[in-house]
Amino acid sequence: MKRKAVLAGNWKMNLGPAQSLDFLKSWSNYSWTPGKAEMWLFPSTISIPSIQSNATLRTANFILGAQNCSSEPSGAFTGETSAKMLKDAKVPLVLIGHSERRSLFLETDAVLVKKARLAVQEDLHVLYCIGESLQERQSGKTLDVIFQQLDAVLTDETLKAQVGTTIDFAYEPVWAIGTGQVATPEIAQAVHHEARGRIRTRLGDESASKVRILYGGSVQPDNFASLLLQKDIDGGLVGGASLKADAWNKLWKIICETTEQG
Ligand code: PEP
Repeated sequence: MKRKAVLAGNWKMNLGPAQSLDFLKSWSNYSWTPGKAEMWLFPSTISIPSIQSNATLRTANFILGAQNCSSEPSGAFTGETSAKMLKDAKVPLVLIGHSERRSLFLETDAVLVKKARLAVQEDLHVLYCIGESLQERQSGKTLDVIFQQLDAVLTDETLKAQVGTTIDFAYEPVWAIGTGQVATPEIAQAVHHEARGRIRTRLGDESASKVRILYGGSVQPDNFASLLLQKDIDGGLVGGASLKADAWNKLWKIICETTEQG
């Protein structure tokens, strides 16, 4: 089965409402070929309405997502944004479990599963991140960590049926995020293959062949094509290079061309 490739940009805590518009307008100098791959953008939540309300950008070829949502449905949780609010605000996509959320905000698998449940209940599409730290890799624990993070979703009664439909995954080795130290295509493919195998074992062939697993960690125009040519890599989740119009344009061209060949 052919899975549609995704180029996803995580802007993290960069670009407020006005800066986001300026940045995206600078992108409109570039021509994007629609249809061959999907482009997902994760701006800061506060910047999303300005992008949505811009008439030119409304017709542009990308899907907007939030970088996080609350693990609670509503109530006294100062500073939080619920999945329902994202739905009300017509944000169709949410990133859950980014390693910065796991490490800096101490979000556990149990918390992340609660977030994902609320997101799918609101019909949001979830990009769920997994990945091992350098120490875990060096001590030979990569697959234990990946399987534990995956199993939190694959064994959840609400979530398991959504894998490959409204839940996709991103494998982001923590040691490769923002470090310039990209995983080699072979290393990344080996983990993607194992992750897909785990999904097959737990949920069967259909979910395993439908689910998209993006790679994230120091993706740049000069390393993206070789990653995309790997059988189990279905796209990229990109931080730094998503904030550079020229690099982003190149990544989009690469994903469209590689998808055409695939
Ligand atoms: C990320 O933040 O998800 C990421 C992959 O960042 P970078 O591309 O900068 O490594």
